[in-house]
Amino acid sequence: MVPPHSWPSRGQLPPSQLRAAAPGPAPSAAGRSQRRIRARRGPGPGGAGSERAAAAMRSPREPGEPPPQAVECVQLKVPIIQQLYHWDCGLACSRMVLQYLDHLDNDEFQKAIQELRLTKSIWTIDLAYLMRHFGVKHKFCTQTLGVDKGYKNQSFYRKHFDTEENRVNQLFAQAKASKVLVEKCTVTVQDIQKHLSQGHVAIVLVNAVLLLCDLCSSPVKYCCFLPIGQKCFCRNPDYQGHFIVLCGYNTASGSIYYNNPAYADRTCCTSIRNFEEARRSYGTDEDILFIYTDS
Ligand SMILES: [Zn+2]
Repeated sequence: MVPPHSWPSRGQLPPSQLRAAAPGPAPSAAGRSQRRIRARRGPGPGGAGSERAAAAMRSPREPGEPPPQAVECVQLKVPIIQQLYHWDCGLACSRMVLQYLDHLDNDEFQKAIQELRLTKSIWTIDLAYLMRHFGVKHKFCTQTLGVDKGYKNQSFYRKHFDTEENRVNQLFAQAKASKVLVEKCTVTVQDIQKHLSQGHVAIVLVNAVLLLCDLCSSPVKYCCFLPIGQKCFCRNPDYQGHFIVLCGYNTASGSIYYNNPAYADRTCCTSIRNFEEARRSYGTDEDILFIYTDS
């Protein structure tokens, strides 16, 4: 399920320094040019192109043609937008996705989060409603349709549990009538790779404590946002719910690429093994929100 509080993973910046990369005018032309897929199937020249290129790769085979290999490397140009506060990583991820789809209008977005009351406590189901609000084709896969009572005693969830439980369960109950697509299902890495290879993206709930980027240097200690130089006595938590946007993979190196809204300047990369561990960790309900470009 989702985090009442989503802390930046290994957030090395105090909230005051977490800035959105983009609240200016929607960069329409730039957004469009960023919306590119780089996909390569097996050896041969890298096939630059758009979703159309990806679609072309799925065209029916000629007789005698060898069976298609899975796309080996996908890097989608998903814009990077940083979260503003410790709790709004889900909103930052939604903005990245909407901008990738050319659907991001900042005024409209502000209106939507007021209307849907997305303040301070954002669950994956909230993000599904947000996508629906913008008419974006989506599918929310989870292991628990509603709030898992088992989380009540986890420190991460404890603070807001009772007030949130009813609200969130209601959203699940009203999902179908609200045209929000929710399914209880298990998602494999292959499912995710197939989705990405078609130019689509996904927002995933992970345990940020476990997710370790291969590219970011020296993991910074979590916890609090203390002034630099001040010593921290916090214990490392077991669970920190955090949303990220998946934007590619490389099967040769066994990597997965993602935008972490804690950062404004990079696309992160981890092993599929580490990603699976962080995504399937207790506390996430294996929530994943698939977003489709044909919206
Ligand atoms: Zn990184």
